[in-house]
Order: sequence, then C-alpha cells, then structure tokens
Amino acid sequence: MVHSLRDLDNRSQKHKIRTEVKQRFGGSCAYCGCTPPVLTLDHVVARCKGGFDVRSNLVGACRRCNNSKKSKELWQWWQSSPWWCELRAQRLSSEVLICKVKRS
Ligand SMILES: [Zn+2]
Repeated sequence: MVHSLRDLDNRSQKHKIRTEVKQRFGGSCAYCGCTPPVLTLDHVVARCKGGFDVRSNLVGACRRCNNSKKSKELWQWWQSSPWWCELRAQRLSSEVLICKVKRS
C-alpha cells in the first residue's frame, strides 16, 4: 500500500507533538517528577472519558504514574497519590489548559 504525502505529514506532525509534550517538563514525569528511561504519554482526560489527542491533553508521565492513573479523574487520582505535589500541579495547570477545568 502506498502512503500519501498527507499521511507522512500527519505522522511527522504526531511525532513533533509527542516530542514537544515530553520535553515540556524537561523529560521528567509531569506527575511525580522522576526522570524515567522511558517517558510515556498520558492523556490528562482519558480518551474513554472524551479526552482528545491534542497537545493540551497530553503530558509526559512515567509508567508507574500512567499505570496508576489509567482513566481516573486527574485531580482525584493525583491528590490521593503519594507523589502529589502542589507545585507541579500549578505548573501543569498553567501548561496544560484543559486541567484548569476542575479543581474543587
Ligand atoms: Zn511519575
């Protein structure tokens, strides 16, 4: 099957977004702050909860956080986790717009 130029464009665009998102916190996990050998991409609002595949809904997260969070509501999960950090939360809120939605 022949891939069109548009496909290639989309793919390099996706790659660019992934790289940008991972570099947003200097390659460290947005939630716990560790710098794992492999940084995964986490959907802040899980895709099954209607979260989009866009920059403002993606953060770099280590496997531990990603596995622990799964599709849980961000603040609920984060604040009850042992690696909750007010400072990182503020940073994430200012970097990732969609997180501003709810904080009660
Ligand atoms: Zn982490």
